[in-house]
Amino acid sequence: MLRQLRPAAFLDRDGVLNEAPVRDGMPTSPASLAELRVLAGVAEACSRLKEAGFLLIVVTNQPDIARGKTTEAIVEEINRALRHQLDLDHVCVCPHDDADQCNCRKPKPGLLLEAALRCDINLSASVMVGDRVRDIDAGRAAGCRTVYIKHGYREPPPQYADMSAPSLAAAAPAIIAGDIGRRPPNEATGLPR
Ligand SMILES: [Mg+2]
Repeated sequence: MLRQLRPAAFLDRDGVLNEAPVRDGMPTSPASLAELRVLAGVAEACSRLKEAGFLLIVVTNQPDIARGKTTEAIVEEINRALRHQLDLDHVCVCPHDDADQCNCRKPKPGLLLEAALRCDINLSASVMVGDRVRDIDAGRAAGCRTVYIKHGYREPPPQYADMSAPSLAAAAPAIIAGDIGRRPPNEATGLPR
């Protein structure tokens, strides 16, 4: 029997769901549960996305685990608190750094692809929401549409995000309406990328 595939909202964690403390122009992760601050409007946006039929899958790079700056236990404590406050289906963590050459560290799409297999997700009906270029690249590589949450970090914005927004709360209505613009066609072929 064919299984019914569902759309997902793949959500980056730091800077999308919760505040990402900015140091030297770049976002960092909360160092402990005490530093966790869920961003304004996120709880309601998650509820609305869920009601609209999206699975809520958090996909988060946590290289500070590999770097020895934090522990899996601290990361998991924060994730548990987020799952408690937000109606999340899964939280998928990449604990690696570049040197590990894993398949899950965004911009690679491994976390999204694995979740798609496990949860019967229709990737082309899904969206990746992130505040870093590597989030947008991972979403594109997985065949999802992409929403870039623009915080003005010290890195150039992605070239091909399907939509930019100041927050998940601001982006949610367009995601639910399916109104986040298809990618521009490939210049060479005229076909969608
Ligand atoms: Mg982030």
